[in-house]
Amino acid sequence: MKSHVCSFKTYIRDEIIKKGGWVNAHAHADRAFTMTPEKIGIYHSSNLQQKWDLVDEVKRTSSVDDYYARFCQSIELMISQGVTAFGTFVDIDPICEDRAIIAAHKAREVYKHDIILKFANQTLKGVIEPTARKWFDIGAEMVDMIGGLPYRDELDYGRGLEAMDILLDKAKSLGIMCHVHVDQFNNPSEKETEQLCDKTIEHGMEGRVVGIHGISIGSHSKEYRYKLYEKMRKAKMMMIACPMAWIDSNRKEDLMPFHNALTPADEMIPEGITVALGTDNICDYMVPLCEGDLWQELSLLAAGCRFPHLDEMVNIASINGRKVLGLEPI
Ligand SMILES: [Zn+2]
Repeated sequence: MKSHVCSFKTYIRDEIIKKGGWVNAHAHADRAFTMTPEKIGIYHSSNLQQKWDLVDEVKRTSSVDDYYARFCQSIELMISQGVTAFGTFVDIDPICEDRAIIAAHKAREVYKHDIILKFANQTLKGVIEPTARKWFDIGAEMVDMIGGLPYRDELDYGRGLEAMDILLDKAKSLGIMCHVHVDQFNNPSEKETEQLCDKTIEHGMEGRVVGIHGISIGSHSKEYRYKLYEKMRKAKMMMIACPMAWIDSNRKEDLMPFHNALTPADEMIPEGITVALGTDNICDYMVPLCEGDLWQELSLLAAGCRFPHLDEMVNIASINGRKVLGLEPI
């Protein structure tokens, strides 16, 4: 190791290469680059729940070729940064049906010598409503990991826990991992990570379930957080941090423990929990300013969590990403 470096970016990048390269463990490549200057006003005036349906417009009007072009653009952006494994959610639901996942498989074939691609099904319409459930069942057979968004069914029907059961049953029966969006709203009324841990243990899926975000964890008391980390260890639950996706958490007047709107990697890693890194949405309705830049995500996470632990930063962006995607270490 050199005694000084120009910037940590080059040092960390070199160490990441030694550990098999960057891993982007979570994205929505099918909707990447769909934001335009004309549409950005909608981003300002909508909350996440509204955006889940706003993207219907993009999904309804996208052909397999449109989806394929966006996958190619996203994949090439990853390859250009030295990403060697890329996990992305793909919408499979009553609006876009199977067009996005057909395009995803086409792109995977084209880039198979350049990058490892893993797909999970995004369930923006939930898994309870019958047509949404039909597309969930179809989609599950076309992906590598079951993907989920239980808050959609909690919001629409008050049935978030049942949605977790459906996701975990499916992943278990197919013998694959399950990636679930949890605790996204930076609000102490959310306990989805804990609920997912309980469900993971109930279904005997320890070590095969991954949470995405976990932002609300930081809004709970220290006592709650550390009990949760204990439960996460028991469930062998891993977590993917996507810093740009929630650093825009909106201003609130609620009083809560002071924290940045980030996955608490600074607490989770010393507690033995695997934390990986993802870009999440790239330049779309959800996160217009995300450029899909892994270094930006990693530096934001480390700075925002006050966790400039270089070896751990390297692991977050490389080997931990392989773990959450179910890949062997290099
Ligand atoms: Zn996501």
